[in-house]
Amino acid sequence: MADLEKQLQDAQACRFRLIVTDGVFSMDGNVCPLDKIYELAQKYNAMVMVDESHSAGVVGRTGRGVTEHYNLRGKIEILTGTLGKAFGGAMGGFTTGRKEIIDMLRQRSRPYLFSNSMAPGLVAAGIRMFEMMSETNALQDKLHENTAYFIKKMTEAGFDCKPSQSAICAVMLYDAPLSQKFAAKLQEEGIFVTGFYYPVVPKGQARIRVQVSAAHEREHLDKCIAAFVKIGKELGILK
Ligand SMILES: *Cc1c(COP(=O)(O)O)cnc(C)c1O
Repeated sequence: MADLEKQLQDAQACRFRLIVTDGVFSMDGNVCPLDKIYELAQKYNAMVMVDESHSAGVVGRTGRGVTEHYNLRGKIEILTGTLGKAFGGAMGGFTTGRKEIIDMLRQRSRPYLFSNSMAPGLVAAGIRMFEMMSETNALQDKLHENTAYFIKKMTEAGFDCKPSQSAICAVMLYDAPLSQKFAAKLQEEGIFVTGFYYPVVPKGQARIRVQVSAAHEREHLDKCIAAFVKIGKELGILK
C-alpha cells in the first residue's frame, strides 16, 4: 500500500489514474485489501478496477465478490470476471462498469472485437448460474466448508497450508522439482492438481495449488488428503 500511495502521488499530473488489482490472488487464495485501496483511490482521485475471476461466486456473503466482502458494492469503477471458475467451468467472462466505459471497451477491446461470440449454451448456463446465485447460498456455503475441512485435515496431517479466503488451497513445498514430482504422483493417484514454481510464485515458494469445489463430497476430499499423505511419506516430506 505504501508503494501504491507513492505511485499515485507520482501520477497526480496525469489526467486519469486507474488502480488495477485481483480480487483474490490466485496463488495464495487471499483477498486483496480493497478497503485500503479504495481509501487511497479516494484520496488521490483514482479509479479502481478489480479482476474478480477468483472471487466472484466465492467471496462475500452472497458470492458477489470482494466489493461485497468490503461493503463497497457500486463504488468500484470496473469489475471483470470469468465464467470459467466458480461460474460453471465454461468459457467466457464479463466486464461491468459505467456505460461510457463499456461503450469504449466495445470499440477498443480486441478479444471482444475480433472474436466470435460465446456459444449459446455457455451463455444460457451463465445466465442460469446468476439466477441460482440469487436463489440460495448453499453451494457457496458448501465450498467454504469444504475448503476449511481440507486445510484443517491437511494441516493436522503435517502439511504447511496457507490460510485461504477462497477455493484456493496452497500446499507449500518450497522446492520447485519437488512440486512437479509431487503433482505428477498425485495424478497417478487420480488427483488433478498443479505444482507451481518460480516465476509464477516467488523463488523458494514452490507449492501445489489445490482448487476445492462445492461439487466435492467428504469422500472426495478424504481421498485427496489420503493421496497427499501417501506421497508425502514416500517423498520424505511427512514422517
Ligand atoms: C482465470 C483468470 C483469468 C482468465 O479467465 P479465463 O476465462 O480462463 O480466460 C483472468 N484473470 C484472472 C485473475 C484469473 O485468475
